[in-house]
Amino acid sequence: MEQKSTSNVDPVHQLIAEIRSLEIKKRQLQLKLKLLQDGCNHDFLETAFIRKCKKCNWTESLYY
Ligand SMILES: [Zn+2]
Repeated sequence: MEQKSTSNVDPVHQLIAEIRSLEIKKRQLQLKLKLLQDGCNHDFLETAFIRKCKKCNWTESLYY
């Protein structure tokens, strides 16, 4: 038997709310990653088109 939601929130709005909270979470994680990358003493691994830090995964395009 399926577990019924306790609230009356319809699935559409439930999904929208869930997506919104995941987007907030994503932004928080991206910010956290950015802070780590900003503080990283980069150790780049260069290829013809990009350079990528081995430590924090920061990538920079060298191709213009
Ligand atoms: Zn780095």
